Amino acid sequence: MMIQGDLHIHSYVSDGEATPEEIVKYSIKKGLNTISITDHNTFSGSLLAMHKAKDIKKLLVIPGAEVRTFWGDVLVLCQAPIRISVNPVRLWEEARKNHCLLIPAHPFDILRLGIGARSRYVSLWDAYEVFNSSSDPLTNLISFLYLRDLGKPMLSNSDAHTLEGIGSSRNIFEVGELSVESVLEAILKNSVRLVPTYSIPSTIAKLRWGARIRRFSKNLRERYELYLRLGGLPPHP
Ligand SMILES: [Zn+2]
Repeated sequence: MMIQGDLHIHSYVSDGEATPEEIVKYSIKKGLNTISITDHNTFSGSLLAMHKAKDIKKLLVIPGAEVRTFWGDVLVLCQAPIRISVNPVRLWEEARKNHCLLIPAHPFDILRLGIGARSRYVSLWDAYEVFNSSSDPLTNLISFLYLRDLGKPMLSNSDAHTLEGIGSSRNIFEVGELSVESVLEAILKNSVRLVPTYSIPSTIAKLRWGARIRRFSKNLRERYELYLRLGGLPPHP
């Protein structure tokens, strides 16, 4: 069967506005069959949503997080939460042990800490988010053109921080049943069709340059602090 999913959403557990419960209800209203709440460096948002959706048959919540690694943001989608590491190689080791997927988020978005050219360390990644409704069109185009020949599955997600953005971009997965295992397998088998779109409210929000610059400098500061904490670059994979 064909199902629709948005696998990059933020709740108020990190920097989103909506509660996991509101996200569950709104996702159903928008016709989504599966979502992942990928709050920064925590699976808590998705776990809360799973709890709220446990009796709802038509929506599957996948445990997820967006990990701010030393290289940049990476989506982690799993059957169950794993230990998170900001060192991408350690994160990869943990993900492999637990059959999780690692997906660079908005890889070429400099303002929002994409991992950039490190996307080409193909053995580390399971798929790429080549369209992100919260990134500008040029960034998305660069991601698509740079990564499309690597033979990996590609995804389009909303990266919604507000209810209205949820499902603005989504994916259509071909699955045998509505289960976490089936969706992760569909991504690995590349049984995915992208539905990339922009939502008007999030596009207007993009025009607030003051907020973007503040976020960019905050990201740079965070990256520098991580660098100091790790004492240098992590080992090359
Ligand atoms: Zn995000």
